Amino acid sequence: MIEHDILIVGGGLTGLRAAVGLCDRFNVGLISKVYPVRSHSIAAQGGINAPLANNPDSRDDSWEKHTFDTVKGSDYLADQDAAEIMCREAAPIVYEMEHWGCPFSRLPDGTIAQRPFGGAGYPRTCYSADITGHVLLNTLYERAVAKGVKIYPEWFVAALCIEDGRCHGVVAMDTHSGELVPARAKATFFGTGGYGRVYQHSTNALINTGSGIGMAYKAGVPLKDMEFVQFHPTSLIGTNILMTEGCRGEGAYLLNNQGERFMQRYVPTAMELAPRDIVSRCIQTEMNEGRGFDHPLGKHVHLDLRHLGEQKIQERLPGIRKICIDFIGIDPVFEPIPVMPGQHYSMGGIDVNGRCASEVRGFYAGGECSCVSVHGANRLGGNSLLETIVFGKIAARAILEDLEGGAPEPETKPLLRLKDEVEAKIQRLTGPGREKPYLLQAELSAVMSGKVGIFRTREAMEQALQTLLEAKERYRNVGVPSPARYMNYELTNALELEYMLEVVHTTILGALLREESRGAHFRLDFPDRNDRDWLKHTIARMGADGQPVISSKEVVITRYEPKERKY
Ligand SMILES: Cc1cc2nc3c(=O)[nH]c(=O)nc-3n(C[C@H](O)[C@H](O)[C@H](O)COP(=O)(O)OP(=O)(O)OC[C@H]3O[C@@H](n4cnc5c(N)ncnc54)[C@H](O)[C@@H]3O)c2cc1C
Repeated sequence: MIEHDILIVGGGLTGLRAAVGLCDRFNVGLISKVYPVRSHSIAAQGGINAPLANNPDSRDDSWEKHTFDTVKGSDYLADQDAAEIMCREAAPIVYEMEHWGCPFSRLPDGTIAQRPFGGAGYPRTCYSADITGHVLLNTLYERAVAKGVKIYPEWFVAALCIEDGRCHGVVAMDTHSGELVPARAKATFFGTGGYGRVYQHSTNALINTGSGIGMAYKAGVPLKDMEFVQFHPTSLIGTNILMTEGCRGEGAYLLNNQGERFMQRYVPTAMELAPRDIVSRCIQTEMNEGRGFDHPLGKHVHLDLRHLGEQKIQERLPGIRKICIDFIGIDPVFEPIPVMPGQHYSMGGIDVNGRCASEVRGFYAGGECSCVSVHGANRLGGNSLLETIVFGKIAARAILEDLEGGAPEPETKPLLRLKDEVEAKIQRLTGPGREKPYLLQAELSAVMSGKVGIFRTREAMEQALQTLLEAKERYRNVGVPSPARYMNYELTNALELEYMLEVVHTTILGALLREESRGAHFRLDFPDRNDRDWLKHTIARMGADGQPVISSKEVVITRYEPKERKY
């Protein structure tokens, strides 16, 4: 048994920022299934939004304009009070990171450089070449280590302990020893990231399984807006590695097989810098209508950087150039990049309020695993890095207040019972079962990409639901051949798969029920937005029979009345 005042699960930007905000006053333990600097936050490329008004073209920018762009980008599903909090905090938080040593790219006058991003009225995205996540994460990791946060790297959290309406901690596996360890805490915070890997074509790291989300759900915490999944317009064919929106921010063109800048036909004002949901649909339409390129690795369009010139590409997008050379043998200085849309981000997640508190006492969540909601139906590029750090900090403040207000002592017995349950589960998984967890995951994720993707219909999603229900049955027969506990990834993957099945289930159900098109959720059979019936969040809860029950929650509207979303 380990014990801390506060347990943070997740070593990405959210978890580290929360830990840094708490460790001066409380004894904080941070558990992460990978070394913190290998969290997906490290892969963020393009930048973080803040209305600093440094760029000569953004002198009139303000937090209010940033809030409006965020709300409009969300197709009016974001809670406007929460979006306001995030945008007000954006400039102070970027300066805080700067003062903590984060090396941002600079303008000639020495101020933090900003580039244009999709759906933003001004160049607002602060960046460090194309490795913004790398510099932010290392800055926070160094700070957490310097402040003495106790880190448990390569510990896998297998279950969340909620009993009698409050949270007592988690049961984790130290993957080096294979030991199951109950971890007791007055407050538990999840910054466990998104669920990209429930899709086959995803820009996300393999670790982004969404297990934290499924785990919270199974323990009784509701999920919100799970049907809203973002597809990034430009991922490299074959691997689906992200080609940052920063490429288009720096002026790259999207071209079809006629050599046409096809965005001209769809969104002539914003062109390549329309929001992601719109650009993804345009690319998919071009490919569906025969104007894409064929390639053994997949249909695609071209992302053309050549006119930017070698010097600019090397200065602003060196990582993109290197990825293209290493992974597909193309140098973007001389050749266009073959790209297709890929799953990128999960707008939905654990239902929390603007303080990152869930409805369960002692359980909090923030960052991509959570849904506050600041992104609504579609997240703007550069707003997620912002969300992680702002809400990591806000969560720390909320937990501090709640603990100082007197939190009940967590109990040991429920944790020991849960440990026995996890042990029994592992025994079952390492028994004689014949289903391979990785094959099951591969089949399911292919169905998600094919049937619950950019364009959705009832018919296709009902087929996906059928596959999911069969997969749940098949999961009972999953078998991991090696009973070894030491670094047994197949075993941890099998444990995660149980949670992924719930993430998939709630995603499909939400998408089936929402009979409208809004943001990233596009129904060919209901192509219009329907504010009368659907200007609301969906809430998924596990019912007594283990089946999801979907209800709804009002959207908070403060100053921006929903309007048709035009760019
Ligand atoms: C390729 C790519 C580029 C991106 N670029 C940008 C960008 O330029 N700008 C922007 O705003 N956004 C960007 N995003 C989105 C943004 O990077 C992420 O949403 C954000 O970094 C998520 O941070 P997080 O702290 O919520 O989670 P993560 O960084 O994903 O961290 C999750 C943590 O949880 C831990 N964890 C998960 N499950 C368990 C478990 N069961 N047990 C123990 N530990 C667990 C993991 O070990 C990890 O440490 C990008 C995303 C991708 C995929």
